[in-house]
Amino acid sequence: MGSHASDRRSGRVIAIDGPAASGKSSVARELARRLGFIYVNSGGFYRAITWYLLGKNIRPEENDLIAAALDAAALTCTVTDNESRILVNDMDPANHLRDDRVNETVSRVSRLARVRQIVSQKLHDCAAARDVVIEGRDIGSVVFPDSPYKFYIDASPEVRLKRRAAQGERDEIAMRDHDDVSRAVSPLVIAADAYVIDTSRVTIEQVVNEILTRLGQKGLPSSDVHITDARAR
Ligand code: C5P
Repeated sequence: MGSHASDRRSGRVIAIDGPAASGKSSVARELARRLGFIYVNSGGFYRAITWYLLGKNIRPEENDLIAAALDAAALTCTVTDNESRILVNDMDPANHLRDDRVNETVSRVSRLARVRQIVSQKLHDCAAARDVVIEGRDIGSVVFPDSPYKFYIDASPEVRLKRRAAQGERDEIAMRDHDDVSRAVSPLVIAADAYVIDTSRVTIEQVVNEILTRLGQKGLPSSDVHITDARAR
């Protein structure tokens, strides 16, 4: 443990991991709003890199081309309206991050060690001077293993499929989950000290309240934690 550079950062990190369409984005965004923390979507970094490589017609198998393209690209993490945003060579790919092509390809790009190294570094930079809620697949297990605030958000496969369909997106959730769980580098796992919540039958509000209660018990100092804690008792 502690092999990553978590000692470099000074902000607090709340890690929210889980599979695709488990509800973690909505939960993480609302949690960040309630706490006054910055919301960081680490999947957005993998999606932005995937969008960039697709634009250059580089395929996920072309490791050397990918490494060279990324070494030459400027990836910048900015914050707008309390949310992180990634720019690639000053271009903002926000409107393309959920394109079908990106959905189809992102898990094959995110399995590359070099890509994960770059994103991990960006996440540490992003968290360096801020309190953040970061959602992803390996935030508690690998990127910020020393964070005392780890949550794993899950939901049944049926519920997750319905959620994506309701968002009008074509997304091969089962395929992405399979790739994410079975890859060699930083696979999706439940960190040993993560608090697991199944969101299949509860509202976002209920999940956020449960997390705030748990954070209060762990001593996270925040006015919102105390208010919610008092209400929950
Ligand atoms: O969270 P989202 O579904 O947008 O993530 C897109 C993809 O990015 C995931 O399927 C996964 O392959 C990758 N990812 C990852 N590690 C993270 C966040 C996302 O490998 N921490």
